[in-house]
Amino acid sequence: MRLVRSIGCARRAVSELQHPRVLVPTMGALHRGHVALLEKARKIARRRSGSVLVSIFINPAQFGPGEDFTRYPRTLASDLAICRAADVALVFAPSAQAMYDPHRSTGITETALSRGLCGASRPGHFPGVCTVVAKLFHILSPDAALFGEKDWQQLAIIRRMVADLDFPVEVLSAPTVREADGLAFSSRNAYLPTEERALAPGVYAALRKAAAEAPTPASAAKLARKLIGKIPGARIDYVEGVDAATLTPTQRVDRPARLAAAVYFGTTRLIDNIPFPTPKP
Ligand code: AMP
Repeated sequence: MRLVRSIGCARRAVSELQHPRVLVPTMGALHRGHVALLEKARKIARRRSGSVLVSIFINPAQFGPGEDFTRYPRTLASDLAICRAADVALVFAPSAQAMYDPHRSTGITETALSRGLCGASRPGHFPGVCTVVAKLFHILSPDAALFGEKDWQQLAIIRRMVADLDFPVEVLSAPTVREADGLAFSSRNAYLPTEERALAPGVYAALRKAAAEAPTPASAAKLARKLIGKIPGARIDYVEGVDAATLTPTQRVDRPARLAAAVYFGTTRLIDNIPFPTPKP
């Protein structure tokens, strides 16, 4: 496995890798959700003797003022061990200086799917995500890239960007991996003190109960809001029942939908989403 830190080295290293090259973009602090993406990437790459690439970059451009950029967990040594064990061929872990020219004045903004949900509460977030993912695609020239359904809105926006701007990259996804108690793995779970960690799975439980009991995505959101409101210490940012493709609130039951939530515990903001209707276990 090679570790490269600069754009030039990354381009040279990539040119020596077999196709298909499958990229898993991450911000590091790798957990079992990321490992599932690495395993899926390896299966896809291996089918045709290709290579898995991982980027580890805590992208300052996707954090707003006062958000958790400075305290985001940085665990490069253990991330590299995880990548090595997952048979990753190349890790690209640039510094912010290597990625961004101080005079940069160009970026990518998706203007429809980014409006609601996390886009409404984090205004610069998705422009930051789109711009860095576009840069990673240009630098690493992957044939395919894998994203988690945990960040459903991000996945939809990246698919849109790739289609709109003709990136020659196949966007693939993998389902959310959860702890035994239902909490979705997230690098931000490390922020939760014991008591909040014990309460956090209540969000997923509320989404599941609401999706099982309510007749439409919008009414499920209403019920989930009520249930999450009863979790001690939980502060709702949003709970919405949205069309899975357009991400707009919907009452329709004839099209795939998602029940999505962002909830604060203290200063920690957790997001989650499930399909509506939820498939029976
Ligand atoms: P991050 O490092 O948080 O930017 O995440 C990198 C990728 O891993 C994104 O595509 C996420 O959607 C995905 N991911 C994060 N958490 C999970 C999870 N619990 N299950 C599956 N994928 C995840």
